[in-house]
This record gives sequence, C-alpha cells and structure tokens, in this order.
Amino acid sequence: MVKLMNTAKRILVTGGAGFVGSHLCERLLVEGSEVVCLDSLDTGSLGNVENLNVFPGFTFIDHDICEPLNFEFDLDEIYNLASPASPPHYQKDPIKTTKTNVLGSLNVLDLARKKGAKIFQASTSEVYGDPALHPQVEEYWGNVNPIGIRSCYDEGKRCAETLFFDYHRMHSLDIKVARIFNTYGPRMNPKDGRVVSNFIVQALENTPITIYGTGSQTRSFCYVDNLVDGFIRLMASPDEVIGPINLGNPGEFTVLELAEKVLRLTGSTSQLIFEQLPSDDPTQRKPNIDKANDLLGWSPDIQLEEGLTRTIEHFEKVLLLG
Ligand code: NAD
Ligand code: UDP
Repeated sequence: MVKLMNTAKRILVTGGAGFVGSHLCERLLVEGSEVVCLDSLDTGSLGNVENLNVFPGFTFIDHDICEPLNFEFDLDEIYNLASPASPPHYQKDPIKTTKTNVLGSLNVLDLARKKGAKIFQASTSEVYGDPALHPQVEEYWGNVNPIGIRSCYDEGKRCAETLFFDYHRMHSLDIKVARIFNTYGPRMNPKDGRVVSNFIVQALENTPITIYGTGSQTRSFCYVDNLVDGFIRLMASPDEVIGPINLGNPGEFTVLELAEKVLRLTGSTSQLIFEQLPSDDPTQRKPNIDKANDLLGWSPDIQLEEGLTRTIEHFEKVLLLG
C-alpha cells in the first residue's frame, strides 16, 4: 500500500533498487518527498534500499515496467531509471534490454500522461556510440552501430529519447532528459562487470586487474552524489529546460590510469593482465557540461581520487561481510 502523507510530493522512481536509483530515492526521502520505488530486481536488490524503510514515506513495488502500470495513487513526478546499465548485464538478454527501454518507457510515459506527472529519463552517453566528436556536446548525433552487441542498450536508449520528445510534442508532457556519463560509487554491484567495481574488487582481493585492450581507451567518471544532485536540479528546472543535458564529470582518464589509481589507493599487489577488447567499445568519452553549468548551475565537485577512496571504503565493508 502506498502511504499518504498529503503535503509531500509523491515521486515514482523506476529502477529505484539499483545503484543510482537507491541513492536518488534516499536523497528524495531526505528532502521530504514520498517515494514509490518500483523495480523488477533484475540487476538491483532489496539490500540497496533496506535502509530506506525507516522513512514513513517509502514504498517498494516489485514490478517490471514492460508490464502495464495501473496504479490508483496520484503522482507528481517520475524518474525513469529502470534498465540494466552494465555491459555484461544488458548483453545477457539483449531483447529484454530493448524491450525495457522501448516498451517499458512507453508504459512509463503513458503513466505520466494519465497522472499529469513530470517525467525524467535516465538516458546515457552511449547515445553518442563510439563518438567521432570529442568532447561530446548534446548537439552531436552520435556514431552508433545498429546491429552490434551494445546496440540493444544504445538504440534502446536512443528510441526512448525519441519517445520522450514525441510525447512532449504530441501531448505537451513535461519531460526532462539527462545523458549520464560513467558514474560510480557505493552500492555498485561488486559483480556487475563495470570497470570501477571490477578494479576495486580485484585490487582488494589481490587478484589480477583485467584491462580490456591496451587500456588506452578513456572514460570520465562521475561520483554518484554529484550525479543525483544534477538529477534533482534538472527536475526542478523551468518547464522549457527539457534537455537532453549531459551529466558527467569532465575529468578524462585512460583505463590504465584508473587501474594505477586504484592500485595506489588500495595498496594492492595485484598485477595487470590484458584481455581482449569487447567489440564496439568506445575509444574515448568525455562530456561537455556547459549546458548543465549554464542552465542548472551544476558541475561535479568530487574528483576521482576522493570518490574512489569513498567507494573503496564501501567495497571493503561489502567484501568483509562476504
Ligand atoms: P543498475 O543496474 O544498478 O540499476 C538499474 C535498475 O533497474 C535495477 O535495480 C534493475 O533491477 C532495474 N530494472 C531493470 N530492468 C527493469 C524492468 N524491466 N522493470 C523494472 N526495473 C528494472 O544500473 P544503474 O547504474 O543504477 O543505472 C540506472 C539508470 O541510469 C539506467 O537507466 C542506466 O541506463 C542509466 N545510466 C547509468 C550510468 C552509470 O554509469 N551508472 C550511465 C549512463 C546511464
Ligand atoms: N574495462 C576493462 N576492464 C574491466 C571492465 C571494463 O578494461 O574489467 C573497460 C571497458 O572495456 C571499457 C571501460 O573499461 O573500455 C569502461 O567499461 P564499463 O563497462 O565500466 O563502462 P562502459 O564501457 O559502458 O563505458
């Protein structure tokens, strides 16, 4: 049952039991909103949100967004985060990944229309594919392979953006679209295969650090608290600010540089091993965040070493607990 507290905003977070979603739910609850966290628990977990049960305004619903969303309760805002995000996760069942991003987004958009709710889409830097323009600005249309192993996610998210903008044009729906660049922090699934969690777990266990390819590819890593702050600012921005807006930390590092930092910060004895680069792995990625800066007054202030230190502390506890 969804609790009614009358005065607070009621906000639905799809994918709320995932890594980013759990931080978002927490922040919204701390700010006094009621939060309905809806999640199929495909890649997220109840453990990520168990600390949120202390908030009287928190409700969890176990549901897949590909199934119809018929709820009696009113909603003021929706954050649509439901989708696997790590390459091994979204490639495990690529057809389901496309379904979640296309059919699931349609269901969530229809719900927003029915409830008259403002809706935020967690899009991705992957809409730029393997970008030929560097750093990436929102006007860039991208370089995406439509039939590769990453396409279920990249094209799924691109189609979701199309749906959001068409609901805005056809039905005047209030939309907010953020393009998120690589984000890391506590509550990442230690086994989800992303580079930050892989390297930290490998370093803490003194097992080999797996570098895919030569490690010269680059990424820009944003600490999760900074990202969530960007979400809240975008949702609160004037109606005409609809995005897409890049949210990410423009500090750019090669994968090798990331490995060296993790080794130094953990004092690990792990060796580097080089494995095959997965196909279509983007060569370089770095956001231009001028729009977020100008329109939202947002820029990240937690730099990589500080964020890694906090994340390493979290993983140390997780690994201790087994
Ligand atoms: P995550 O895998 O930890 O969380 C995703 C959540 O969505 C999980 O709890 C999962 O169970 C849920 N989910 C998946 N399919 C669902 C479905 N069909 N119905 C209901 N729930 C479903 O990933 P994350 O890193 O927290 O990513 C959250 C969102 O942000 C995703 O939409 C992702 O595409 C986007 N994003 C994340 C990053 C990043 O670096 N973390 C970068 C770009 C975009
Ligand atoms: N990567 C790596 N070793 C790992 C995991 C990932 O070298 O154990 C590389 C991966 O090939 C990519 C980068 O790190 O070039 C970021 O990978 P991640 O899966 O975190 O995110 P994405 O590719 O979606 O940006």
